[in-house]
Amino acid sequence: MLDSIIDYFANISSLHRTIILVGGIAFFSLIESAVPLMSLNYKRWKHAGINIFFTLTTIIVNFFLAFILVKSSDWVVAHNFGIVQWLNLSTISVLIVGLLLLDFLGAWLAHWVQHHVTWMWKFHLIHHSDQNIDTTSANRHHPGESVIRFVFTIMATIVVGAPMWLVFLYQSMSVVLSQFNHANIILPSWIDKILVSVICTPNMHHVHHHYRMPYSDMNYGNIFSFWDRIFSTYTKVDNKKLNYGVDTHMNNTEVDNIGYMLKIPFLPYRNRIEYDEEEIL
Ligand SMILES: [Zn+2]
Repeated sequence: MLDSIIDYFANISSLHRTIILVGGIAFFSLIESAVPLMSLNYKRWKHAGINIFFTLTTIIVNFFLAFILVKSSDWVVAHNFGIVQWLNLSTISVLIVGLLLLDFLGAWLAHWVQHHVTWMWKFHLIHHSDQNIDTTSANRHHPGESVIRFVFTIMATIVVGAPMWLVFLYQSMSVVLSQFNHANIILPSWIDKILVSVICTPNMHHVHHHYRMPYSDMNYGNIFSFWDRIFSTYTKVDNKKLNYGVDTHMNNTEVDNIGYMLKIPFLPYRNRIEYDEEEIL
C-alpha cells in the first residue's frame, strides 16, 4: 500500500497532477451548489474566470520552475541532507514527519511571512482581494506570489530532506486541501469539530479572508491546523458575520480587473488599520 503510494507519486505525470487540480475544483464546485455556506450574491462564472486566470499563471510558473525542485530533492537524497535524512526514519515516519514539516515551512511559514513583509504582502493581497470566497479562490495568486511560494517550497524541501515522491504527494494534498478550505460549503458542526482538530476546514480558513485585521492575520494554515494553535494565531468566530476581501482594496472596479491586479505590487502601499477583536464577535 505504502509502496504503491510512493511509486505513484515518484513518477506522477503532469497530466495526473493537472487532473488532481481540475478534478478538485470540479468536485468542490458541485458540493458548493448542493450545500452552500453563504448564498454569495455574485456571477459565479465571471468570478471563476478571474480566478482561473490566476490559477493558470500559477501552473505556468510552477511548470517552468519544477526542474529546480526536482534537482533540489535529488540533491538532498543523494547527499543525505535534511531533517528526515539525518533522523534515518522509516518510510511511514518520513511520510508523516515530512508532510507535517513541508506544510509548516512551505505553507504556514510562507503565508505568515507574506503577511508581515510589506513587499510580499503587496503580492499576496491579490489573493485576499477576492470578495466571494469559493473553491476557485484557492489558487488566485499573483504570478509573483507563485514565485515566492515556490522559493519557500524549495527551502522546505531542502531543510526537510524530502524525496521527490514526498514533495509531489505534499503538493497534491496541498492543492486539494486548499480547494477544500476555500470552498463555500457548510459542514455539520460535529464534522467540522472533528476535522478541524487535525486539518484546516472551510470554517477555519474563511476567517482569514475577513476584510479587516486582526482576523485576516489569523488562521494561516493550509493542510494541518496544528501550526495556528501552536503559534497562537488560531481563532474561531461566527462565520455568518464575515465580510470577505481586504479593507484597502474593496473597490470592484479594481479587484475585478486582472490588469489592475497584476499591477498592485508595483503601486504605492496602502496602509492597513488594526481593529479590535470584538469587531465581528
Ligand atoms: Zn493570507
